[in-house]
Amino acid sequence: MSYQVIARKWRPKTFEDVVGQDHVVKTMRNAIEQNRLAQAYLLCGPRGTGKTTLARIFAKALNCEKGPTIHPCCECNNCKEIDAGNSLDVVEIDGASNNKVEDVHQKILETVNFAPVTGKFKIYYIDEVHMLTNQAFNALLKTIEEPPAHARFIFATTEADKVIGTIVSRCQRFDLRRIAVPEISGQLRKISDAEGITIDDDAIFALARGADGGMRDAESALDQIISYTGSNITEQDVLGVFGLVSREAIEGIAEAVLTSDIPRIINLIATLDGSGKDLRRLTAELIAHFRNILIYIQMGGYDPSLNLTDAQIETLKKQAALTNTAAVLSVTENLIELDGKLRLSLSPRILLETALIRSAKSASVVDLEKILKKLTSLKLELGGGDAATTASPVRQSIASTTPPLATVAQSAPAALKPQTPATPSYSAPAAAPQRNDFYQQQRPIIEEQPKQEKSQLDDLESDIALRKRVEKNPLVQEVLSKFGGAIRGVKK
Ligand SMILES: [Zn+2]
Repeated sequence: MSYQVIARKWRPKTFEDVVGQDHVVKTMRNAIEQNRLAQAYLLCGPRGTGKTTLARIFAKALNCEKGPTIHPCCECNNCKEIDAGNSLDVVEIDGASNNKVEDVHQKILETVNFAPVTGKFKIYYIDEVHMLTNQAFNALLKTIEEPPAHARFIFATTEADKVIGTIVSRCQRFDLRRIAVPEISGQLRKISDAEGITIDDDAIFALARGADGGMRDAESALDQIISYTGSNITEQDVLGVFGLVSREAIEGIAEAVLTSDIPRIINLIATLDGSGKDLRRLTAELIAHFRNILIYIQMGGYDPSLNLTDAQIETLKKQAALTNTAAVLSVTENLIELDGKLRLSLSPRILLETALIRSAKSASVVDLEKILKKLTSLKLELGGGDAATTASPVRQSIASTTPPLATVAQSAPAALKPQTPATPSYSAPAAAPQRNDFYQQQRPIIEEQPKQEKSQLDDLESDIALRKRVEKNPLVQEVLSKFGGAIRGVKK
């Protein structure tokens, strides 16, 4: 038997073999099982996602000698002919090269009324149906709406919005999705093992990433790499042949962004650009990587739906610890904006560098949420969160150094009496140390105020004590040195 390319050899033969299009498969199977066949189906989706494959499986399901069945045997003559693309009852038409009204007449309208030869149905499959001219579409309309009982139509297109509305409204429409990287990886692994090819996980991952959601592209790439390197394939082989960036390089850039290591960012981009890597693809992969980090943070750990290798999970864990939600969101937004601009740009490297440097800057901003949490926990530790019932040691020590009430109260000027301190907080004015002195003077007067004000006083005491503790805390000192003392009320 002559050599057959992987994509053809491994083309799914039954509904069970189809990868990544469960929603379409399920509906088609139900339609067959419940005998609710539409007269026309429209399959929309990017190239290589399984449109022709699904059409053929559907045709086999209808025309198998044991059919209609959701498990076509793939052994009978009808099944074999359909698999080989030469069944007389399944007419495959390329819409791009048969787009004129005469073609529609000759290939469809003149034959549709004849009964099928061996099967139960006559199935017309038109690929790239959006290429048909308006006249050709119009010639088809009536037949699609009221076809003979034995006729069924399947249309496929990569550009659904170019198919005229009158056709779409007469079809049951299926949108095939791009196939996810883990699903493609799984299929490539299966094929490699069966074909006796040694290939490492990173190489498979690189092939799957490069295929951009198309199984056929991934399989063709595998074919190509086998022709190039033989049956022992590493990640470097794949990256070299397809101009892809290694996983390590992507993770390296991400780490440089998260640690604000700008010289490293510039060096990495220079190296990648110098070796002719596709910077747009790199951007897309960076977005995917930061999305993984975001999910890791949000889920509080690795989520199996990410489907990553052990090495990747390890990196994810390390990088998630370096950052927080706000920073990753900001980086991702920068990159998505960049992705839009790269399409039109003649200098992608400059755009990429600027976006990454901007991201690095924004990633290094300290997370306010974290600081607030830390402060709250410190406050609770000190009993400041429950000032009315607990007496912290600091508060007691302040009380013991205060002069006896009576003496100070007599000597205090009357005008000062109403000057009850405002409710304390950490955003109090910068003159905090003075306020401390002021408080020391005023305390006796305040003590004479009603009980409500006394609780304010308690708050203030714990405020001062807490502030002292906070100032000494290494985390806060680090924050202050970064911000140059930007938190008001806490001295540098
Ligand atoms: Zn069969």
